[in-house]
Amino acid sequence: MAVPVSQMWAVSSYVLKNRLQGRKHYPLVVMLEVLFRCNLSCAGCGKVQYPAHVLKRQLTPEECFRAVEEAAAPIVNIPGGEPLLHPQIGEIVQGLIDRGKYVYLCTNALLLKEKMHLFKPSKHFSFTVHLDGERENHDISVCREGTYNTAVEAMKEAIARGFRVTTNTTLFDGTDPVSVRRFFDEMMLMGVEGMMLSPGYSYEKAPDQSNFLGKQRTRELFRQILSNRKKSWKFNATPLFFEYLMGMRDYECTPWGIPTYTIFGWQKPCYLLQDGFAETFKELIEETNWNGYSAKSGNPRCANCMVHSGFEPSAVNHTFGSLSGMLATAKGMLSSYEDPEALAAILRAPCPKKRKEPLARIESEAATQETR
Ligand code: SF4
Repeated sequence: MAVPVSQMWAVSSYVLKNRLQGRKHYPLVVMLEVLFRCNLSCAGCGKVQYPAHVLKRQLTPEECFRAVEEAAAPIVNIPGGEPLLHPQIGEIVQGLIDRGKYVYLCTNALLLKEKMHLFKPSKHFSFTVHLDGERENHDISVCREGTYNTAVEAMKEAIARGFRVTTNTTLFDGTDPVSVRRFFDEMMLMGVEGMMLSPGYSYEKAPDQSNFLGKQRTRELFRQILSNRKKSWKFNATPLFFEYLMGMRDYECTPWGIPTYTIFGWQKPCYLLQDGFAETFKELIEETNWNGYSAKSGNPRCANCMVHSGFEPSAVNHTFGSLSGMLATAKGMLSSYEDPEALAAILRAPCPKKRKEPLARIESEAATQETR
């Protein structure tokens, strides 16, 4: 995994402490949604469809600190909306770092160059740039041409200035696995620290409902993308979460593992659904009917969900919950997940019109894997 050792230690010791105390509902990461407004309007996003009076509102630094202190998770993700639109974002990030948190600021990077001076490089802080694949795919995904180039230019500058930079990629149906693998190469060449991937969730409010992945299709796609992996690719996800996406293991979701705090309070039950809000984290944990969620519960909104915010905590719990989980994680960190069938499936697939890479390159990747 591509994270600083101090962060790995902070997370491991936090999880072990909670397990030893017998605490079941503890969060790993707090999603601090400081505002909902954005400078993009992506087809797969369910966050920017709020009325104008809601989009104008934002969390104050004090509200952010109070929520994060109460939940006590070691990591804070700041998604949106676009958090760089928040006028006090520099103050919020620094306040969280001062409290010992590892902060990931999730941004489309359109304002990154302009706002970079508000932040200082730190092992406690990373820009996590939303990039849904190569240039053409990303620009289509965010519904605006030129965004990929702007983001990449800003990322290069941030890396040159000593910032940690990671990426966050959401994949939808119709994704070309070859293109995603080429995107990984590009990010690694640029100096990105680690990459996160997740299938999209079918938000009821998202304008484009046609391209969300079902479970079976998700497993096929991620198996094609993440099998026969290059050693140069670095990811900031636990290996067991990716194994789950590839269909190698099954988990139930852990919705309290990455809870979300917004201008309305703590969102019930997870980052994706809005079944009400709680004023405090304690109230969220104690008053949410957790049995009403996950695929096993029969809740139709959970049936096809495999997203990072619900299932990475399940993978982390597995890692720390047993010796077999730890061994599987260690094995996953060293594995390239060789899978000739997944490779054959890519070769059999009809070549998308826009695929620029000849299939010969994929075949030569396979040959290299075999001779290792
Ligand atoms: S399965 Fe998905 S939608 Fe359902 S509670 Fe878990 S994270 Fe939320």
